[in-house]
Amino acid sequence: PAPTNNLDAFWMPFTPNRQYKAAPRMLVSAKDMHYRAADGHEVLDGAAGLWCVNAGHGREKIVEAVRAQVAELDFAPNFNMGHPKAFEFASRLTALAPKGLDRVFFTNSGSESVDTALKIALAYHRARGDAGRTRLIGRERGYHGVGFGGLSVGGMVANRKAFGLGLNGVDHLRHTHDPARNGFSRGLPEHGAELADDLERLVALHDASTIAAVIVEPVAGSTGVLPPPKGYLERLRAICDRHGILLIFDEVITGFGRLGAAFASELFGVTPDIITTAKAVTNGVVPMGAVFASSKIYDAFMSGPEHVIELFHGYTYSGHPMACAAGLATLDIYQEEGLFERAAVMGERLADGLHALKGLPHVIDVRTVGLVGAVELEPIEGAPTRRAYAAFTKAFDDGLLLRTTGDTIALSPPLIISEAQVDELVGKLADVLKA
Ligand code: PMP
Repeated sequence: PAPTNNLDAFWMPFTPNRQYKAAPRMLVSAKDMHYRAADGHEVLDGAAGLWCVNAGHGREKIVEAVRAQVAELDFAPNFNMGHPKAFEFASRLTALAPKGLDRVFFTNSGSESVDTALKIALAYHRARGDAGRTRLIGRERGYHGVGFGGLSVGGMVANRKAFGLGLNGVDHLRHTHDPARNGFSRGLPEHGAELADDLERLVALHDASTIAAVIVEPVAGSTGVLPPPKGYLERLRAICDRHGILLIFDEVITGFGRLGAAFASELFGVTPDIITTAKAVTNGVVPMGAVFASSKIYDAFMSGPEHVIELFHGYTYSGHPMACAAGLATLDIYQEEGLFERAAVMGERLADGLHALKGLPHVIDVRTVGLVGAVELEPIEGAPTRRAYAAFTKAFDDGLLLRTTGDTIALSPPLIISEAQVDELVGKLADVLKA
């Protein structure tokens, strides 16, 4: 069906779309950098699907790997059993992970990776006889998925409060000390360390011995694309170390080359204790997530002291053969084509293009890091998000797929993007903004 405003014709089997009362745009196929819509309309993918299709669409190598796998072994139970590709993929992944994170646990999504990471952190402290460490800390404007774990530590207040129920003992770091400013960009980019000191406020409030872990996205994606201000992650790491608190980076978006390095941890030179990933781990082709931890932390989770029998964690589809096959082919492509390095180079071109849009109507901020860009628009008074949605609509009609979060346009094209396509993307966006 073509886009229509008659919502009565639809009920949505996925994300609610109450706000705009518009039916979804139907995508029917995809190849490399483009989606094709039901009416034959082609759009340049400026979002890598939903931050996941880092190697581009319809990659033959991945398609073939999945096809061969499903024909050979379609499913393998993972209780007391396994299959070779799960182990092969696990060792390929840990070889890529930041040094010291030499274990991985498979999940099926970012939300599950977050739940898993929080449980690993709690189990680790328990196993060390430190069972009083149960408090979890997230950040205002953090996004960690839609499970109750991720909702609770997430900082999207409406998402959390709508259900009136969440994990106990959760706090949130402040996003800014000055509500009039965006603590992560406008006004305060040099004050990262100072902002991270907010963790000391929570430590003083609760006592460090009650705090299990802090979870942050190194670059927040779904809440407006917020690269960390200078010194922020370093200071969080230092405070966590001082107080025996585990640091979790949610790299569901930033993992697998998005920032021009395998992981954000590598780019920023800060290694957390646990990393959550999903999305691009399989190029988005088969749902999968992966949680990285050091063997010390992982082993505590896997064996726990007195919980050997009771402690259970795992998903029916953990390490699904098709996901592992897709993931192995995906890693081959990332490495053979040098896509992480390519992202760094194309990211510079994207940054130059986007920063040049600064004078255009309603543009109040431009933020870039790696192959991620954000153009923040001034909200229409009384109608937040409408301006960005209008940009999304016009861009789609003009042949460019954008993602918007609030009134921020987020750009994260597949890492295979060419120079000409970066220019095309920026040019189309400029036309949209002018209009
Ligand atoms: N964490 C982060 C940082 C994310 O960006 C997302 C998804 N956008 C999630 C967790 C949740 O992932 P999923 O939608 O796969 O559950």
